[in-house]
Amino acid sequence: MTSQLIDSFGRVHTNLRISVTDRCNIRCFYCMPETDVQFMDRKDLLSFEEIERFVKVAVGLGIEKIRLTGGEPLVRQQLHELIRKLSHIPGIREIGLTTNGLLLGDQAEDLFQAGLRRINISLDALTAEKFKQITRRDGFDKVLQGIEAAQQAGFDPIKINAVSIKGLTEDEIVPFGQFARKTGIEIRFIEFMPLDADNAWEREKVLFAQEIIDKLTAEIMPLVPIENQDRRAPATEFAFSDGVGRISFIASVSQPFCLSCNRFRITADGKLRNCLFSLEEIDIKSLIRDGADDAAIAESIRRSISEKKEGHEINTARFIQPSRPMYSIGG
Ligand code: SAM
Ligand code: SF4
Repeated sequence: MTSQLIDSFGRVHTNLRISVTDRCNIRCFYCMPETDVQFMDRKDLLSFEEIERFVKVAVGLGIEKIRLTGGEPLVRQQLHELIRKLSHIPGIREIGLTTNGLLLGDQAEDLFQAGLRRINISLDALTAEKFKQITRRDGFDKVLQGIEAAQQAGFDPIKINAVSIKGLTEDEIVPFGQFARKTGIEIRFIEFMPLDADNAWEREKVLFAQEIIDKLTAEIMPLVPIENQDRRAPATEFAFSDGVGRISFIASVSQPFCLSCNRFRITADGKLRNCLFSLEEIDIKSLIRDGADDAAIAESIRRSISEKKEGHEINTARFIQPSRPMYSIGG
């Protein structure tokens, strides 16, 4: 019988996010520093076999859904081989990938063949200039090609993740609304969170979900909530009132969803984190490399979940930004 990972607030954990690298081929300002990035030593990255073993233990504790992320997961060589291994683990119901899309043109087909179906592609702007301003690199056209390659390969669902930043992405809202209507791809606006390497986040820089809803309503048409949504999922989903085009929001700052959180994460260097904003980690890599048995790994996962705090406290004076920025945690 599978046991469950239940924390002290009664939250049942069924989702695991796995970071496969902290390296990236662009430098989004809300995530990475512009220069002098300190990357993990490659020998410290969990191997595909180590990740597979960890996932098998986690499945025994009730994990059903996994998402691969990073850094940029597609810069990890042969990522499709990991997907193939994971997709054969009995008990895994869903595997997703979050990518910046730059390498998707080359890899979409292999990823699909390996069993991946769900893909989120991050794109914050629909012009090359704004893309470069945010990512500090060229590559806008390559991301568009990546989205097309994902459509052609047959991925379903494909979602676009767009971080929303005050004073920067307001002009992207309506074009993204139209993009959702034209392509059938869901646009998922994510409120800018305090996980940037530069430590420059301020609440005033967050473009809130409600402001986006108001703008789309005024300039395109009202949004209506999708019925029967999974209340434990972080995103709230809407459709335009004529039924054409889906828009969703991860309103981590303005409407924290901590009380229904069902996820935990493992970093590329094998540290278990029970929250994006955790200040503590459990070192699974050392356990694995020191020869721990599955029961000891399971016990560490249970301990991590039992120590999970009620919420992230971004909106309080008590909030402390984790020392790991987003690229090194795995978003
Ligand atoms: N490199 C891949 C990508 O960009 O899709 C995967 C890793 S990235 C850390 C995962 C997601 O986190 C992306 O959608 C990215 O836009 C988002 N993200 C990164 N930093 C963020 C921040 N400070 N606030 C909100 N979202 C952030
Ligand atoms: Fe790279 Fe993703 Fe971070 Fe952007 S958000 S710098 S693409 S890891």
